Amino acid sequence: MAEPLESSPAQADGVPRARAVAVVGAGAAGLVAARELLREGHAVTVFERSDHVGGTWAYDPRPDGPDPVASGGAVHGGSSMYASLRTNLPRELMGFSGHESLAGRVFAGDARAFPSHREVLAFLRAFAEESGVARHVRLRAEVVRVAPPPGRPGEEEERWSVAWRGESGEVAVEAFDAVVVCNGHCSVPLVPKLRGIGKWRGKQMHSHNYRIPEPFRDQIVVVVGLGASGIDIARDISQVAKEVHIASRGNEHRLGKTDLYLNVWMHAEVDCIQDDGQVRFAESAAVTADTILYCTGYRYHFPFLDLDELSVDEDNRVGPLYKHVFPPKYAPSLSFVGLPVKTILLQSFELESKWVARVLSGRAALPSEEGMMASVREHYRRMEESGKPRRHTHVLRPEWVEYMDWLAEQVGEPRLEPRRREMYENAAECILSLDGGYRDSWEGGGSGGPAS
Ligand code: FAD
Repeated sequence: MAEPLESSPAQADGVPRARAVAVVGAGAAGLVAARELLREGHAVTVFERSDHVGGTWAYDPRPDGPDPVASGGAVHGGSSMYASLRTNLPRELMGFSGHESLAGRVFAGDARAFPSHREVLAFLRAFAEESGVARHVRLRAEVVRVAPPPGRPGEEEERWSVAWRGESGEVAVEAFDAVVVCNGHCSVPLVPKLRGIGKWRGKQMHSHNYRIPEPFRDQIVVVVGLGASGIDIARDISQVAKEVHIASRGNEHRLGKTDLYLNVWMHAEVDCIQDDGQVRFAESAAVTADTILYCTGYRYHFPFLDLDELSVDEDNRVGPLYKHVFPPKYAPSLSFVGLPVKTILLQSFELESKWVARVLSGRAALPSEEGMMASVREHYRRMEESGKPRRHTHVLRPEWVEYMDWLAEQVGEPRLEPRRREMYENAAECILSLDGGYRDSWEGGGSGGPAS
């Protein structure tokens, strides 16, 4: 049901209003958010704590500090890329409009349909330069606190204060009309607490710190989790490891040795670490292993935000958020771009960014705070009704097209092209197969390579 729309203050005089907007992060989401805000006439400052744009696509051969699982320490927020990584979506689905980019150009010499991380990073750098966004990025500028205006956010003359730490270590504070949070969500590992883990004497690490297979040579490795990274990394490690055991919920229909690899086994989820230190799986097999490698995803994390009415709960639900973007109490002057997953990510970043830019200028309107809250409650109700677990609050699939089309409608864009929908669905099926060969024999729609 469509929510009644309220005028935002910017619409009062009917003139699109230019706002001073802070964007936190210069990864893919922050870059496209900045472009859309600039196009809409806003004044934009992008704060980026690292020394580069492109976020997680900047592969760093060094692990991101001591492994957070083993050390129990904090992560530093660096890249989660591994050396062999190739995109899991075809290059046609990894660009921004007007910069069809990976589809039509080769940036770092890798013309394959599913290019390596270097190619994506080179594209994002080119995008930042060519769109003019690069001039608005402050590198080595870490946002340490974002505080709401003392009055009602978004009201005239009320501004958010953004405290940021520069290279010298000094903290400066600046005021902005609005803040768009694009700080990524692949750097704070989600690690399940395995029963009996206290008895584990081997190595443990998270995929965040996985780089190359060599350290696993001749080892027996238990990979926990069967998402895109779990599959990819298990395949990578199997080239050198003695045995790879993949443990995952929902794996029950294909237990045992895999057909494709002589040294890879599928298991149900880990049941416990036994008294003798073996890893025991739910189907009751057990192995003596050298390493447990968690490919169990990441937590949303906003260390610079401390707001009464917005939080990340233990199920990794960020809420309340209207359509994953606007927290009702702080809308429209606080927004998030890039939270939902299992969709054509770069395209959803772009649509969310266009929406935020238009709402801020007053060319698009939001429902009232209560209207947005009602929509959030309805989303949660529908999830519960369909049996979707809370931890999947921001997982769009299978309703991802509905979300993309809804966003497109807000900003006057055409609905998702059937060809792109088909390409994504085909790729999404392939991602979860152990056969990585799909990347080189891609017939899932699209050209299968750039028209260079
Ligand atoms: P990021 O790229 O993480 O960028 C966030 C930026 O914010 C970083 O530069 C960070 O330094 C900065 N930042 C964080 N906190 C602060 C702060 N306090 N102050 C200032 N700056 C800050 N997507 C696909 O579409 N296809 C794929 O094939 C694919 N493969 C992936 C493989 C791996 C291993 C991973 C980890 C992700 C993959 N993704 C893939 C998803 C990927 O995360 C998105 O494509 C996209 O890069 C996310 O962009 P982002 O801007 O949201 O986050």
